[in-house]
Amino acid sequence: MTKYRYGEMTWPEVKVAADEGRLAVVPIATIEDHGRHLPVDTDLLLCTAVTEEAVSRARDRAVVIPAINHGYSPHHLDFPGALTIGAQTLIAYGLDVCKSLAHHGFRRILIVNGHGSNTPFVDIIARLTTVETQSLCAAVNYWAAPGVREVANGLRGSQPRGGMNHAGEFETSLYLALRPQCVDMSLAVPEYGHRPSKNYWTDLIDGDGPLVMMEPWSVLSESGVMGDPTTASAEKGRALFDAAANGLVELIDEMRARAIEPRRDHH
Ligand SMILES: [Zn+2]
Repeated sequence: MTKYRYGEMTWPEVKVAADEGRLAVVPIATIEDHGRHLPVDTDLLLCTAVTEEAVSRARDRAVVIPAINHGYSPHHLDFPGALTIGAQTLIAYGLDVCKSLAHHGFRRILIVNGHGSNTPFVDIIARLTTVETQSLCAAVNYWAAPGVREVANGLRGSQPRGGMNHAGEFETSLYLALRPQCVDMSLAVPEYGHRPSKNYWTDLIDGDGPLVMMEPWSVLSESGVMGDPTTASAEKGRALFDAAANGLVELIDEMRARAIEPRRDHH
């Protein structure tokens, strides 16, 4: 049985994994409020579960790194629960983890993000890793993995451009599929307090409108929800989980197939 969890490996096994050219996959999320019906570990649980499943399906060619638990959530601090780290801290933390992996010989690294507000920072972490090491690093939000959008829109019961946002149909379905005992659907309420307008909306599946901004969460939502969790189900969650894991395997294979070309100095 091939080990695929980095944390379970001995140092000689880590060396072999790097020598085999296996891809290092780094989950990153945050801890923050997710309405009254979902636990504060929603982003972390969903991201790590999907990533672990994907790497287990590609265990001969990837390893999953212990997750970076904390992320950028200062706009959530009006609700009890958020454990935020600063933007510069997050960039430095993620970059140090990726540079360590590069130092140990992992030439290809994929950061899998599970928290929307980490997005610009994981992009920067990936760019800096590629610029500052010999390794190639990319980042992806797990809900943006190939194939997820089609599955999500096929089962969507909530309104487009907002219904599958924070603690909405998408995340609640996944949590129901993974740990239903931790979800209290009697407390789930739909909320569209972020007031989607012509050029502004946020949705995990429909993306963001051209107007990108983030107001304090307490301005946008009374319950902490943005979207419609009442349309969620465990069955939908299982379909989304499978699609996301499949999509990440596709990305793992695409990254591994990509040649790392030497730089050429044209001075
Ligand atoms: Zn979330």
